[in-house]
Amino acid sequence: MAVLVTGGAGYIGSHTVAELIDKNEEVIVVDNLEKGHREAVIGGKLIVGDLRDSEFIKDVFNKNSIEAVIHFAAYIEVGESVGNPLKYYNNNVIATLNLLTAMKEAGVNKIVFSSTAATYGEPENIPILETDKTLPTNPYGETKLTVEKALNWCDKAYGTKYAVLRYFNACGAHKSGKIGEDHNPESHLIPLIIQVAMGKRDYISIFGNDYNTPDGTCVRDYIHVSDLAQAHCLALEKLRRGNDSQTYNLGNGKGFSVREVIDVVRKVTGCKIEAVDAPRRPGDPAVLVASSEKIKNELGWAPEAADLEMIVESAWNWHKQHPKGYSK
Ligand code: UDP
Repeated sequence: MAVLVTGGAGYIGSHTVAELIDKNEEVIVVDNLEKGHREAVIGGKLIVGDLRDSEFIKDVFNKNSIEAVIHFAAYIEVGESVGNPLKYYNNNVIATLNLLTAMKEAGVNKIVFSSTAATYGEPENIPILETDKTLPTNPYGETKLTVEKALNWCDKAYGTKYAVLRYFNACGAHKSGKIGEDHNPESHLIPLIIQVAMGKRDYISIFGNDYNTPDGTCVRDYIHVSDLAQAHCLALEKLRRGNDSQTYNLGNGKGFSVREVIDVVRKVTGCKIEAVDAPRRPGDPAVLVASSEKIKNELGWAPEAADLEMIVESAWNWHKQHPKGYSK
């Protein structure tokens, strides 16, 4: 039986597919290729389609023998979500309800869900614990939290067992150098700084210099995408062992300010990178740093690339080898 990976042609999805293939899992990827890349799917069967089409996803379950689901497919941009919340509710909530309905009808009861630190909003404690309050400051986080709540009710009603993984800031690229980060348009900090290093843009904008942080810029917890991928495999194994539904943070427990990240990219690339102060980005909390003790203790998760310099080196390696991303 196969593991269905929605959004498996995207950044974190494709790295998780790579881990699953490494573990000899049978993989089916569903992706609409709006943001994802066919070339990023290095194994398994790719079915192109959209979860907003409820008949399409039911058909996928009818025609394939699916054991469990890892659900990535979603829009992911905080800033965009503030300007266009309905786009996010439509793709992140309604499409997921279609998926959960198709799972229920097909009798599939295991799902690993790609959630986010943005579910917390302005944190009450640093590092953030899974039990801390969730009060998102942007529609992106709100839509992910809405799905988390739906999962909880589906578990109670239908026995849908879930592992919710709340990621902090995913970055870096696969050690093979074959897959990496390629968003269009790019909105994430590390690939944007690398674009400056590569001469593709003139400077990096620093969104806000008046936050209540040591240097005034936002602090985030950066985690290697392959360490995230590994966590999905561990979560899947846990569901297979028949364990209860759980929610886990995934980060490295260390915060870096935007200015510090720029300095790390300068060091790794050896390039002079111009940075320009710009207004705050709507919806951004000042500090997001995870406690990941729960997943370490319960699932034995052990990040291999916890050091930001190592993470940036892997991203730099990918971008140097693929200056145009996946496009030829
Ligand atoms: N950021 C920035 N300039 C940019 C892009 C991002 O200063 O051009 C900041 C952003 O405000 C946030 C951090 O970098 O504080 C990480 O943003 P990213 O979009 O990479 O990830 P997110 O935190 O939204 O998941």
